[in-house]
Amino acid sequence: MKCSPDKKIVIAVDGFSSCGKSTFAKKIASALGYVFIDTGAMYRAVTLYGIRHGAIRGGVVDAEALERMLPRIGISFVFNPAREASDIYLDGENVEGPIRSLEVSEAVSRVSQIGAVRERLVGLQQQMGRDKGIVMDGRDIGTVVFPDAELKIFMTADPAVRAMRRYRELTAKGEKVSLEEIERNIRERDLADQTRAISPLRQAPDAVVLDNSRMTPEEQMEWIRPYVESRSQATCTSK
Ligand code: C5P
Repeated sequence: MKCSPDKKIVIAVDGFSSCGKSTFAKKIASALGYVFIDTGAMYRAVTLYGIRHGAIRGGVVDAEALERMLPRIGISFVFNPAREASDIYLDGENVEGPIRSLEVSEAVSRVSQIGAVRERLVGLQQQMGRDKGIVMDGRDIGTVVFPDAELKIFMTADPAVRAMRRYRELTAKGEKVSLEEIERNIRERDLADQTRAISPLRQAPDAVVLDNSRMTPEEQMEWIRPYVESRSQATCTSK
């Protein structure tokens, strides 16, 4: 899809783990010529920092130690033309690869429950979206980060379908993982994200809901097209 928007808007993409939010958000951003930000990568980067610096050991998170480290954690994004998206950097190091490991996935939901972590990352995200023209994906974008976003999309899919997608992604990268372990992790994260005290995952009342269990990426783009066109006053073409 290619669009020529007349207006810069904010598009919030929220939903469950491994629904393909980032892939979808990235495509929408590239169709509109907008910036795409994966906020899950930011929570993952903080988790990786905690693991590397001893605040997370064997999956146990020392929240106080991590909070003390927060001011020292430098997170930035640098556009990578090969991926047509921004890579996340932790203190100057590209950590796109290491933040996707199962070790990080297993601790990240606990890290994202820490109020000080959320406060710091939400502040950074709001700064990035100040000038609009942005597509941001996460869990609380339409509810907390940008409650006034012009377009809010809430994504969901069958947990078994999501587990299979993630399994293929990780094994393609050479990680030795089992499908059962991944599905368990997905279900645990769903529960943790929905039941945490601060900014739990929930659908904004004004969000449009996309269940992509049985949809191809192309079908998803066709589905969102009228919303994108009307909210950003764009004319889009399929190619
Ligand atoms: O999107 P992704 O699965 O990479 O996110 C990793 C974790 O980061 C989620 O399971 C969730 O706990 C947390 N997260 C969050 N708020 C966001 C984005 C991600 O709490 N806006």
